[in-house]
Amino acid sequence: MIYPPRCLVCGGLVESDFGLCGTCWRDTPFITGLVCDLCGVPLPGTSDLAEHCDECLKTVRPWVRGRAALCYRDNGRKLVLGLKHGDRHDIVPTASLWMARVARPMLTQDMVIVPVPLHFYRLLQRRFNQSAVLAQAMARQTGLSCCPDALIRTTHTASLDGKSREDRFATLSGALAAHPKRAQHLAGKAVLLVDDVMTSGATLSTAAEVCLAAGAREVCVTVLARVAKDA
Ligand SMILES: [Zn+2]
Ligand SMILES: [Zn+2]
Repeated sequence: MIYPPRCLVCGGLVESDFGLCGTCWRDTPFITGLVCDLCGVPLPGTSDLAEHCDECLKTVRPWVRGRAALCYRDNGRKLVLGLKHGDRHDIVPTASLWMARVARPMLTQDMVIVPVPLHFYRLLQRRFNQSAVLAQAMARQTGLSCCPDALIRTTHTASLDGKSREDRFATLSGALAAHPKRAQHLAGKAVLLVDDVMTSGATLSTAAEVCLAAGAREVCVTVLARVAKDA
């Protein structure tokens, strides 16, 4: 079956499998120019040095570099939500291409791509793991290896009784572990962590710390969209 190529945002016909029509392309906040070397948020001006945003200067990041393809607003937000809640697999090839492009300066030959595991609540809803499919598509585009289950959620459901939703969330967001049978994929390796969206970076921090504890040499992160406070 050959489907006519359609815009990922508005569904209008487009001339090639490029992903977006001209109007939606202009309304999509691609991150270009100077960015924070840790979280990928856009920064004003130009610099030849690795620069860091205020948030990353105030927050310890256990990873060494990070990039984001889009700002989490307008069509950036629409695409993330389509992936997250709409099971929009058709977004994956184009989104992972954008992510591979911004990640390029961080890539090393021995790097292994590792997705952040699916959130507990989404697992209950039986949604597909958008981070895992993005990671696997990035691996195809970069030629790097991918270990989709290097990290796993450890669900301490018994200890959640009586806790508020916020407390449950806090408990679960810290409940990550290295897969006991995948340790060889992390030991001594540079790891590229992949997630769909970065807000505070708490989940990515937990995931990076777990990778380092499992023997990873260093960790970089790539997300489809970065929530930027001022953008
Ligand atoms: Zn469009
Ligand atoms: Zn930053």
